[in-house]
Amino acid sequence: MLEFDIVPARRRPAEERAALLADPGFGRVFTDHMITIKFGEDGWHDARLIPFGPLSLSPATAALHYSQELFEGLKAYALPSGEIGLFRPEANARRLNATAERLAMPALPEELFLKAVWTLVEADRDWVPSGEGQSLYIRPFMIATDPFLGVRPSSEYLFAVIASPSGAYFSGGAKPVTVWISQDYSRAAPGGTGHVKAAANYAVSLRAQAQAQDAGCDQTVFLDAVEQRWIEESGSMNLFFVYENSHLVTPPLNGSILPGVTRDSVIRLARHNGWTVEERPYSVDEWRADAESGALRETFACGTGVVITAIGRARSRDGEFTIAGAAEGPVTASIRDTLVGIQRGRLEDPFGWSVRRP
Ligand SMILES: *Cc1c(COP(=O)(O)O)cnc(C)c1O
Repeated sequence: MLEFDIVPARRRPAEERAALLADPGFGRVFTDHMITIKFGEDGWHDARLIPFGPLSLSPATAALHYSQELFEGLKAYALPSGEIGLFRPEANARRLNATAERLAMPALPEELFLKAVWTLVEADRDWVPSGEGQSLYIRPFMIATDPFLGVRPSSEYLFAVIASPSGAYFSGGAKPVTVWISQDYSRAAPGGTGHVKAAANYAVSLRAQAQAQDAGCDQTVFLDAVEQRWIEESGSMNLFFVYENSHLVTPPLNGSILPGVTRDSVIRLARHNGWTVEERPYSVDEWRADAESGALRETFACGTGVVITAIGRARSRDGEFTIAGAAEGPVTASIRDTLVGIQRGRLEDPFGWSVRRP
């Protein structure tokens, strides 16, 4: 296993840190350090913990031109015991490698991923906020760094980890959101990269997200690219539809849906509760009809950033419908409270999801 060279940062004073942690927002405040590891013909090398700061790159850097780049996202929590807990980090390590394979990038040993994340979290543990709804959002990413304009997989790469103390993802708090059903733009197509965390997936979703915002909505819901009929997922969240007797429906991992760690956790938690979860294609017509008839009790979205958020309304060019009076339902609230309780170390964790430093 690589050892990390440590170049300590000038640590910002406690008062400055406290002021930033009071209301960090999402993704705009960063800790004192970052991790970088390089890849070349001899494999992974030069693992370092260094001060957070700009990268120096050739303007010909492959990632800037052809988007051979990926990312991950996970959170660290300040636990009541005073320790730091990470939520299922090995799932992110595995998914990073699935993405790397699809983008013709090198695999990163899972233990190296975990060591990189823990090294940064330990160095900057004073930046893990402990307020309600707060956590340290960790952003590992990998970019192709060959200074070469030919189109081919790069031979050199940079893996880095940065961390950002964060509050609630939506500034509005836990109130149900309104989504825009995108009929003009697709996020992912069969055979494409929708099932992996490629940075480029986000570039192609931004126009739809801008349209959603213009329509007064918080998030976009994407449909399948072929028939524009089957619900896939939201911009950075997977979707669940809740029926009578805590029966949950979620679209299956069909190759264009991102396999969220939160999605998997929700499914396992629901089944642990004795609830039923059906992974099956779910159409936008079914969603609307069942919301209008009242058969559909709740809809929620889930992902690392937001954890769980209720969807109260859905809007599209064809009009709008409301789900159960646009109020958060009991299944959504129960799953959110359990998941957040496990993440924050307040509830028993029968799954072993919250991990301490090895
Ligand atoms: C990251 C992401 C999710 C959520 O995945 P989590 O592992 O739960 O954070 C859902 N959809 C897309 C498109 C994503 O990129």
